[in-house]
Amino acid sequence: MPIIRVDNVSKTYRLGEQDVTALSDVSLIVDPGVFMAIAGPSGSGKSTLLNIMGCIDTASTGHVVIEGKDVSGQTPDQLANVRARTLGFIFQTFNLLPVLSARENVEYPLLQMPELGKAERHERVEFYLAKVGLRKYADHRPNQLSGGQRQRVAIARALVTHSKVVLADEPTANLDRKTGESILNLMRDINQTEGTSFVFSTHDKRVMNRADRLVRIEDGQINALGMKRDGTWVFVQDRRKPDDDPDI
Ligand code: ADP
Repeated sequence: MPIIRVDNVSKTYRLGEQDVTALSDVSLIVDPGVFMAIAGPSGSGKSTLLNIMGCIDTASTGHVVIEGKDVSGQTPDQLANVRARTLGFIFQTFNLLPVLSARENVEYPLLQMPELGKAERHERVEFYLAKVGLRKYADHRPNQLSGGQRQRVAIARALVTHSKVVLADEPTANLDRKTGESILNLMRDINQTEGTSFVFSTHDKRVMNRADRLVRIEDGQINALGMKRDGTWVFVQDRRKPDDDPDI
């Protein structure tokens, strides 16, 4: 069963007197264990799609099905529950709480899971801090950490709830190339060792090429769906137009 299914989703934002169509009839499936890139130029609808897949935003029309359950029409509380138990998030700007240490930031989502005792909470936090290589920095606050270290805290926070899929909006965009690569390596390692699915947006061809599934989006529409086979992309759908960005 797919973890996330997006069926014919469109999204229109009202901007003053105008309607802006951010997504138009988008359908895709996120299978367990994939390392998927959503690639497209700035303004193509990547963030909107990730936010709708992650139940942070809702579709204007169409359906989002998470682990077999249609989440359209669910209340904000129900959506928060789906987010907390199935999905993890990583943002371009890290979004850590500045007054909390790395350890407390990682622990934070577990405080909303009353079924977990203190010992289990502690064990999970230490496990994921070690997994992202930050045991020595557990007591540091975000402003005492580098960009790469902050993104590692965010990765540990996304995993600590045992998320099935981590949604990452341009996770390397604010990092230098080398640090960005180490973050992608870490995500890939977790994907392969723990089986966690990752869906990350990017407008960078190098980042896109690290994926094993590709959703290519332009002007709010999917124009190519690809799968990596023996290191090269095989497109199961390709409707790219001659004037689409050839680099992504
Ligand atoms: P990307 O992540 O690929 O840069 P976005 O999903 O952020 O693209 O944006 C897609 C389109 O939707 C753009 O035209 C953008 O201006 C518009 N848009 C996104 N969010 C809003 C919003 N909250 N209100 C109005 N327009 C928006």
